[in-house]
Amino acid sequence: MRKKTTSSTTPMFQQYEKAKAEHPDSLLFFRMGDFYELFYEDARTVSQELGLKLTSRSKNKTTKKAIPMAGVPHRAVSGYIRKLVKKGYHIAICEQLEKPSKGKNIVSRGVVRVITPGLLLDEETLDAKRNNFIVALALSDTKDADTIALTSLDLSTGELRFSELQNDTALKAELRRLQPSEVLIAGSQEAVLRPIVDSMELHVTIREADALDLRKAIKKAVNNPLSVELQNQQNFLGAMKLENMAKTVRAVRLRDSKSALAAFSLLIDYLASTQGGVPAHLDEPRGYHTDDFLVLDAASAANLELFETLMGGHRKGSVFSVIDKTVSSSGGRRLRTWLSYPLTNVKAILTRQKAVSSLVSNMKQRESLRKVLRGTSDIQRMTSKLSSGQGNARELSSLRDTLKRIPSIIAELRSVKNERLQELASTLDPCEDVVGLIDAAIVDDPPNTLTDGGIIAEGFSDELDKIILIMREGKNWILRFEATERLRTRINSLKVKHNRVFGYYIEVTHSNREYVPDNYIRKQTLTNSERYYTPELKEYEETVLGAGERRYELEYKLFESVRESVIDELVRLRNTASKLAEIDALCALAELSVQQRYVAPEISAEIGIVIQDGRHPVVETMLINERFIPNDIRLNVDRRLLLITGPNMSGKSTVIRQVALITLLAQIGSHVPAKKAKIGVVDQIFSRVGASDNLTRGQSTFMVEMSETAHILRHATARSLVILDEIGRGTSTYDGLSLAWAVTEHLHDKLESLTLFATHYHEITDLAQIKKAVFNMSVAAKERKNDIIFLRTLVEGPANRSYGIQVARLAGVPESVVLRAQEVLTNLESTEFDEENRPVLARKSSPKNPHAQLSIFGNAIEFGVVQKPLSQTDPLIEELKKLPLNTFTP
Ligand code: ATP
Repeated sequence: MRKKTTSSTTPMFQQYEKAKAEHPDSLLFFRMGDFYELFYEDARTVSQELGLKLTSRSKNKTTKKAIPMAGVPHRAVSGYIRKLVKKGYHIAICEQLEKPSKGKNIVSRGVVRVITPGLLLDEETLDAKRNNFIVALALSDTKDADTIALTSLDLSTGELRFSELQNDTALKAELRRLQPSEVLIAGSQEAVLRPIVDSMELHVTIREADALDLRKAIKKAVNNPLSVELQNQQNFLGAMKLENMAKTVRAVRLRDSKSALAAFSLLIDYLASTQGGVPAHLDEPRGYHTDDFLVLDAASAANLELFETLMGGHRKGSVFSVIDKTVSSSGGRRLRTWLSYPLTNVKAILTRQKAVSSLVSNMKQRESLRKVLRGTSDIQRMTSKLSSGQGNARELSSLRDTLKRIPSIIAELRSVKNERLQELASTLDPCEDVVGLIDAAIVDDPPNTLTDGGIIAEGFSDELDKIILIMREGKNWILRFEATERLRTRINSLKVKHNRVFGYYIEVTHSNREYVPDNYIRKQTLTNSERYYTPELKEYEETVLGAGERRYELEYKLFESVRESVIDELVRLRNTASKLAEIDALCALAELSVQQRYVAPEISAEIGIVIQDGRHPVVETMLINERFIPNDIRLNVDRRLLLITGPNMSGKSTVIRQVALITLLAQIGSHVPAKKAKIGVVDQIFSRVGASDNLTRGQSTFMVEMSETAHILRHATARSLVILDEIGRGTSTYDGLSLAWAVTEHLHDKLESLTLFATHYHEITDLAQIKKAVFNMSVAAKERKNDIIFLRTLVEGPANRSYGIQVARLAGVPESVVLRAQEVLTNLESTEFDEENRPVLARKSSPKNPHAQLSIFGNAIEFGVVQKPLSQTDPLIEELKKLPLNTFTP
């Protein structure tokens, strides 16, 4: 309940307090004439964040204290809002809801919109090639399901989707893909959900538990808590869609559709509180199952540097930065989505790939398509803006310019022989009626403002044309009037002028004052001249100025009606926009293929990956003085685990990552950096880097490394591709080596995943001798004098040495230490095999004594089991006694 207002506050401050009470967590921008003012704590915050001057307003009558205040001019407000929202603030815009009029001393005010990081529409704040998602999460309240429902919305494009995730890891993976700017959680579920979201450093907004109730949320949306007329319609449209929501959600066969609806209602409730309802421009909600796409958990995606580099988080150097050859914003967003959601269905992959291939071979069409698409505007974001009542005539005019390009796009597509492109050509809607309407209604180059006229084209409205004629005639009449008066009074310098304050007047210099006729009425005296009017001039002034007023008002009204007619075609326009985005993304992949000499991989449902002369898509573009050395890889059911050894810096990490990236690119329908490739579609890609490789990230402790490894071992299947880069390195050598060994065995024996394991644990290469499908490969290097030459070629067989000691020598470690290290190494290696020439590490404890473990040198160590003492006559004791222990080296 609102605090009882006393006479201590002015009526305006009562309005302020009411608005602030409704939006306590937002900075309240309170419109006062040409300014937005902020008061109290809000004023202090913005003055600190934006360096605005903090002033104060008349004292509060009760507290007798001055009220802190800061203001920004309304024309410049968007810049300030942008900065604050980027810093994570929520902004409530409180507008004057009526024009100030003489009889009234206070205008009504109300909050019309709340802008938050997840609800941005302003192109200048948004990243053109990236969606801006807001996500709502809801836990299932059924005991047997531990799913988490997720709804995502990009308000700027209207894309609305929902899904459910089976556990925290899957949720993190999905959040990583969506990279939302804001995540909504109900207060009642904060304890469970917040830690997950916080660990990803995302902006969280906590909502009341009530918001999970769909019925209440819909009621709130329809009852429109915000007070703008246009939004009434939006609510209506939104409500119509909402009626079908439950049906839509159920159709997707989620495990728990109840929690999916709860997530939806969280979002709807938020839209109702911030946008005045569910905006009309939202797409029909689309459900998806995350396992319909290649699964890539958050850590794997980060390791593969899909969207930003591991070190520093830069875009440059990421896979997306290399493959993004799109020429339009929506095309860029589409390609980004493709890279985030690689496909697993062979047919779907091939549909895309074939379209790319035909655009590769039809150079002329590709080039002209790209040329036409380059200048297109972002229809998706533009329609969202228009339908939120925010766009101006310029938006309509650029929409028209973009739509006018469609016929030539269709013509180019028609001439390429490809099923998908033909389908696009025949379904791409040029929206000629919309073009016709905008052409007829809007001038060629409309102004930015909507209130000063000059928007509507001649011939569109008789009424407007008539008003314009009156204005024109009025102006002509005034010109004629001036000429006649000059003749009549014989004052040659007589002028008829106009200004905003005094309207039209006749100006006569003081020296000519005596010639002024009797019917002139004095209006104003200046230093050098006198200003007059006549009743006749007054009458025309009224006609002309009145016509001006009427013209602006009518133009605004006409513009609104055109905007509404355009919004009526929203679904068609968005369909068109979506197809243009797809065409751009396809052309971009074709261009990439040509520029980087990629090839179309063969896609199959069989398990196995064969790559001939494969390259790393990013590293190959980064090398300056060196040529990238391509490599071959062959993985299949009988050769499913490759151990890759070789010196430091030789290229192990590069080669294993390139296999993952080639597979991923193949599954988005792209061509790949290789001479030839055959990719058996994989269901998941796991990529892990051992702790030692990225200590700089700080958080990569051995614990993280192991929990990530545990995740792989729990989820990988025979269809998965696993990339392990030096795992086990974050702990002591023995612990690490033992773990690496056991993990490798498990991957080979139990999970049967296709695995590439780059390692410096030379000992592990012995596994190839005892495991059927384990093979050794190494990156070749040559030793020349005291130098190592990296050949970067992957060859069959293990590296015969790790060159660590050579590197130490190169680095200037004293020769005596190097020699000693060499000696120790020889000793270590001499105990690698047992008497039967089997790797010592391969030994297993007997079933009778399951606790017995083998140390790295073959000594049995007992844990928790009392071992029977050896008898003094045991032959082993005899053997041991004979050994010259004092002369043994460590
Ligand atoms: P470490 O064992 O120290 O982690 P590594 O064997 O994993 O090293 P990479 O990090 O893969 O080595 O490669 C080191 C550098 O070598 C790369 O940054 C790249 O510049 C270059 N490089 C790798 N592979 C190739 C290649 N095939 N052709 C040319 N240069 C390459």
